[in-house]
Amino acid sequence: MKVIDSKLISMKSILHEAKQKQYAVGQMNINGLQWVKAILLAAKEERSPIILAASDRLIDYLGGFHTIVGMVEGLMRDLEISVPVSLHLDHGMTVSRCKAAIDAGFSSVMIDGSSYPLSQNIAMTKEVVHYASKRGVSVEAEVGSVGGMEDGLIGNIIYADPYECVRLVRETGIDALAAALGSVHGPYQGEPRLGFDEMKQIAELTDVPLVLHGGSGIPVDQIQRAISLGHAKINVNTECLEAWNQAVRAQLTKNKATNDPQTILTPGTEAIKQVVKMKIQQFGSSQRV
Ligand SMILES: [Zn+2]
Repeated sequence: MKVIDSKLISMKSILHEAKQKQYAVGQMNINGLQWVKAILLAAKEERSPIILAASDRLIDYLGGFHTIVGMVEGLMRDLEISVPVSLHLDHGMTVSRCKAAIDAGFSSVMIDGSSYPLSQNIAMTKEVVHYASKRGVSVEAEVGSVGGMEDGLIGNIIYADPYECVRLVRETGIDALAAALGSVHGPYQGEPRLGFDEMKQIAELTDVPLVLHGGSGIPVDQIQRAISLGHAKINVNTECLEAWNQAVRAQLTKNKATNDPQTILTPGTEAIKQVVKMKIQQFGSSQRV
C-alpha cells in the first residue's frame, strides 16, 4: 500500500487493493472533531487505510463542506497521519450536493438515488461520475434499500436486484456499489439476515467492490463471509455512537461536579477509538500499510 502524507485520496485504489487481498476497509462516520481524531489515531495505530464519512444530513451541523475538509486535513497534519485516508460524502442526496462536496475537497462521494426508479438512479449517478472522475474523486451508488434510518427516513429493507446492480455498474462506471442485502442502519431487531445468495450473484456479475451499509451489530462470521463475497468497504456508525454515549454518560454520572468539556468528552473519544480499532481488526485491514 502506497503511503501518502496528509493528503486525502480517492477510495479507488484503497478498495481495489482490499478486494484483491480479501479484506475490507472501514467507513467510520464522523460527528465532530473528536470523532475525526479518534478514528485517525485508531487507523494510525493499526496501520490501516480508513474512510472518514460525513453523512449529507449532518453537513450543516458539522459546519459545512469546507469546514469538514479543513478539519480532517488539519488533523491529518497535526497527528502525522500517513495511512491512506479518504473523505467521503455518505448518502449524498442530490447531484448538486455531491458536486459541492467535491468542490470543497472531499475525495469520494456517494450519490444515493436508490429511492428513485432505476433509470433515474442511473442518470443521477452518471452525472456525478462524470464530474468526479475528472477530479480524481471516487463514486459510490446504491441499489435496493438499507433498512432502518436512511436519509432521516425509516424505511423497509428492499433487497437489491442483481440485474439492476449490473445495469447500474455497467452504465455509470462507479467505483463502489452499495447493494442493499438485508442490512440495517441503526440497531438490529434480532439476528441480521443478509442475502448471501444475491451477494454471490452480484459479485459474480459485477467486478466492482461492494459496500456493506449498517455494518454495526453484524456477527463477525457474517462480516467475513460478506468480505469473501466481494465486500471491500463496511460502514460503521451505530457501534461508535453507542460506545461514545455510554462513556460520556458514565463520566457525567461519576463526575457530577465538573463543567469541563475535556474531562466529560475525552472518555467518549477513547471509546470510539477502541471500537474503530476492533473493527479494523475484524475487517482484516490492520497492518496493511
Ligand atoms: Zn448507509
